[in-house]
Parts: sequence; structure tokens; C-alpha cells
Amino acid sequence: MRATITNMTIVSGSQQYNFSSSIPLGESVSISIEAQNLGIPTAMGIGWTVSKPGGNVIQQYQVPMTDFMIRTNGKHYLSGPLLVLDKEGQWNIQITLYAGDKNNPVVADSYMGPLGSVVTAPSQVRPAMPKPVGIPHPEEPMYTSLTLTNIDVNAIITKWLTDWEVPVQYWDFWKTATDMQVYEIYPPSLLAMGLKQDTPAGTWESGGKRHLAIKPQWLNPGVIAHEQAHNSYALLTPAQKAAFSTIHATLKNTDSTIRLLYSKNPYGLTNDVEGHAEVYRYIGQWMPAQLTIFYPRLF
Ligand SMILES: [Zn+2]
Repeated sequence: MRATITNMTIVSGSQQYNFSSSIPLGESVSISIEAQNLGIPTAMGIGWTVSKPGGNVIQQYQVPMTDFMIRTNGKHYLSGPLLVLDKEGQWNIQITLYAGDKNNPVVADSYMGPLGSVVTAPSQVRPAMPKPVGIPHPEEPMYTSLTLTNIDVNAIITKWLTDWEVPVQYWDFWKTATDMQVYEIYPPSLLAMGLKQDTPAGTWESGGKRHLAIKPQWLNPGVIAHEQAHNSYALLTPAQKAAFSTIHATLKNTDSTIRLLYSKNPYGLTNDVEGHAEVYRYIGQWMPAQLTIFYPRLF
């Protein structure tokens, strides 16, 4: 029997976490496993044991062997009951995948290791710093002295995380959420995608990830804030996106800072996605409190 575990995720409402991620304390999650049959058609089953920090077993789950055959290369999806992550620290899991005869299965694959790291959620979303007058995070100038050799991309990302007061438990996530590629001269592969040599930056999505190609003079915390807001928006459900649209449509007429922003720079009026990114990029942690729920992992 040849069968293998091909994907392991933790599902919490509309959010999905990879194993070993940071997950806020108190989340109700379910574990979801994808397995693939690489051999002759076979029945499959799975079992897992979850233990809390300190070692107490909290969930023992057994999915019986299927009474049908999974075809060669066919995938089988298994999802467990709800589990409340009620203790901080590292949770572990031991998974066993079975294949073969229904009455005499053999172990085909297994995993033993971290499920996730449970961390305290922020107790409040109120910013620590007082709100500056005008546009809180104004447009940065073009940094003409920055070149490929002296730019420090990690330092610029950290400046965004700090200045926008992004909760520390999400920093690892954000440091890899966008693939940033800095170029003095864009290579032919990017020009072939339609990027012009004289434009400051270009973005695209592939393989489920956002990519940013940019000239060093233009990479600043504000540009990163805008791009990461798009990543955060992608985590919203269709219903949450619709709710954001409704509230944003009202606030752009009633909130004095958003009105000021759009009077100086109307780009956020292009559509809801750009409005969502521009509100975060220029107003950040001082945006109206009712909007913060539409920025997962940024508050
Ligand atoms: Zn954008």
C-alpha cells in the first residue's frame, strides 16, 4: 500500500492555518487532512491524537476505514470535530494514515510534531500612540539614495510592522506573506508580463501568493502596508467583503480623516479593494474602530 498525507491544515471559520502557525488563544478549530493514494485502489482511514502544552491528550479521533475504494492517485479528505485551543503554548499532534484491506489495514504514513503555537490574542485594538493630525501615515518621498546594494528589505518591513503597530504574533506571517523582489532594472520576464521599465512597482498573484517587483527608491513602509492590506482582504469571506463595502461607503462621506485622504488622493475610490488598502496604508491603526475587524492579522 502506498498512500501519503499531502496536506494538513487547521480551519477556524473562514481562516486556515498551516501546522506550526501562531493561532490566537480561544479559537475553535478543526483539523483537516488530505491524503493521496499512490498505489492500487484501496480503502483508507486515519487517526490522530492532539495533546495540549504540558502533554495532556485532549482529542483522540479515529476516522474508520472507508467502505469504498480510493482510486490510484485519488485524494481523500478527512476533517475532525471542533477543538478549542484554550491553553497557551505549543500543541502537538500525532497522525496515522491507514490503507489497505478494510479489516486488516496497515500504516501507510504518519506525522508527529507541532500542531500550532497558541498565543494570547490582543486584548484591545486601540492604538498605543495618539493619532497624529492630518493623514497619520503620509506619503513617503522617493528615496533617491536607495540602491540594490544598500537597501535593507527586512528593515523596511520591520518599520512597517512597528509604525503600524501590527501585533507581534503575526510578524512571522507578514514577513513572508508577500514575495518582494527589488530590481534596478526589471528583467525581460517581468517586461513580458506587461510591466513597464519606468514604473515604480508591479504586483501580481501566482501560486496563491502576492508578488511585488519594485525599484529600490520606491520601497517604503507605506507601499508594504498597501500590499499587505490586500493580503489581509483576501482572508475575508464574501459576506465580510460586502459588509466592508457598506461601511466604507458611509465612512468615506462621514469620517473626517477618510474624507481628507480621498480629497488629497482619490485612488481608494477606484474600488473597494483599493479603498480597503488605502485606508490602511494612510490611516493604519487610527482608522475608525468599526473597520478594524475587516483587517485580519493586522489588528
Ligand atoms: Zn492596490
